[in-house]
Amino acid sequence: MKHFTWNFQHLFDNDNDPEIENQRKVVIKKSYDFINKWKNRKDYLRDPVMLRQALDEYERWKRSYGTDGKEGYYFWLRTSQDQNNPLLKAKHNNAENLSKKIENDIRFFYIRIAKISKRQQRHFLESPCLRPYKHFLERIFVESRFLLSEPEEKILNLKASPSYSNWVKMTSSFLSREMRTVILEDGNRDTLSFAEILSLMNSQNKKVRDTASKAFNDIMYQYVDVAESEINAILQNKKIDDELRKISRPDLTRHINDDIESEIVDTLVKTVSDRFDIPSQFYALKAKLLKVKLLKYHERNVELGNSNKKYAFRDSVKLVYHALRSLDSEFVEIFTRFINNGQFDVYPRKGKVSGAFCAHHLISQPTYILLNHTNKLRDVLTLAHELGHGINNELIKKKQHALHFGTPTSTAEVASTFMEDFVLQEILKKADDELKFSIMTTKLNDEVSTIFRQIACYRFEQELHQEFRLKCYLSKGDIGRLFQKHMSSYMGDSVEQSPGSENWWVYWSHIRSFFYVYSYASGLLISKSLQNSVKENPRFIKKVKEFLSAGLSDSPKAIFKKLGIDIANRSFWERGLTEIETLLKETITLSRKLGKIR
Ligand SMILES: [Zn+2]
Repeated sequence: MKHFTWNFQHLFDNDNDPEIENQRKVVIKKSYDFINKWKNRKDYLRDPVMLRQALDEYERWKRSYGTDGKEGYYFWLRTSQDQNNPLLKAKHNNAENLSKKIENDIRFFYIRIAKISKRQQRHFLESPCLRPYKHFLERIFVESRFLLSEPEEKILNLKASPSYSNWVKMTSSFLSREMRTVILEDGNRDTLSFAEILSLMNSQNKKVRDTASKAFNDIMYQYVDVAESEINAILQNKKIDDELRKISRPDLTRHINDDIESEIVDTLVKTVSDRFDIPSQFYALKAKLLKVKLLKYHERNVELGNSNKKYAFRDSVKLVYHALRSLDSEFVEIFTRFINNGQFDVYPRKGKVSGAFCAHHLISQPTYILLNHTNKLRDVLTLAHELGHGINNELIKKKQHALHFGTPTSTAEVASTFMEDFVLQEILKKADDELKFSIMTTKLNDEVSTIFRQIACYRFEQELHQEFRLKCYLSKGDIGRLFQKHMSSYMGDSVEQSPGSENWWVYWSHIRSFFYVYSYASGLLISKSLQNSVKENPRFIKKVKEFLSAGLSDSPKAIFKKLGIDIANRSFWERGLTEIETLLKETITLSRKLGKIR
């Protein structure tokens, strides 16, 4: 491996490359060529042949230039490598300013297409010459169904901050300012921030986690009245918007944005909640392993087992190679290319952003993956996860045009979790029993949280919006009761809804991004269901690849239908749940073998 940081040769030579200025001029010229050509015309809104021509030109613009060309991508990547460099920040802002201006000037194209009559929409969707852009147009038309007039949209846009985001920001900023004195792992006391207290609740030391949870409950209690007002305000705002737009169910906006049919989300929610016995059994196992009769609410994430095996980056790469080799040769090729071309930024450095991501921008530009590899097991899985996103991007690039480049939220995490799980199996092959136990319990804990907890949360949100629409105001007591009802529905009898936990909705930021949480469950369960099929028949990987190549060319439902899979059918989701049930059974067997339970 030659590079451990990104090689930018396909973008620019350095931060002061004179080519940056030249490229900027090209982007401006290409953008305004398009804008000036189509701005004052109406023919493309009537004639499919003209619309095809306009869309072809729009696609070419989006493929190679977009609103910020190479410049925006380059400086965005550079600032993530070096966050504290003011010169880079300035250059990035400069690129963003231009991008915003072009974005505003080119918006007319999208808006005018959205506003054509229903009859004309049908005509366009049936037109053979527009077939390559069919789903792109379908999505615009579905959204347009709920759009109000231009001045009304403008007002809704302007009032969004005072009636929604300012409220949400208020609660989260109050919470983030809080500090409390707690007991640390080493037995000393210290005053810690809200985020630090949150992570201490997972400590294996009971005294540490119990003191942290006391402090946490205290903060929740302090802000529950404020949060009651906040939640009621944003629920009312949502109700007003939905009524104005004539949206029948509160979660419909989410489904439309995510390009997923409501019936599919309904099937997912129903199928998962019918199997709440799986998380209940998991928590019963966990209580036994921790040798308590009942887990307290805050103890559900306590780590079990100790794994401190180290994985140097070279070893991680090898493990991932092995896993990919057994799946598909093209996956291996893509990974090799990424490694040889310097598309990874591997190690932590001062000023580099934390965490990990896989970046893509225009369809014609290379993928870049940022890691912070510290030789832990988690880091191997992160490499696999981000590489999964990268492989997904490359497969889409090969098959789709620029207007269908991307993944809908409902399936964005399929490729990443798919690779992660196959790499994990590779690790398990060589692990001793203690390491296996530690990996399997961590994995189960993650999956229970990602699938069952998020679906319980989704159902909590559904009832929250319904109740609000019935009663017009919900007290903190009302909200707390609903919250505990749904939390205990998936946790079962081995977790106590301990005093204070009725207020934990106060800090749960996702319930403010209404109904977002289902997408955690859908992504992982689709991935699990596909894994289950690949394990049964390795040749199924061809179908997985077709799905991963489809990008935004159709809705997930239609893409799977072409592959002969019906995701509106509960058996599809049940296949995914089977994977988790199997892992749970294996973990119980291993716990017995190791004498951790009887
Ligand atoms: Zn991801």
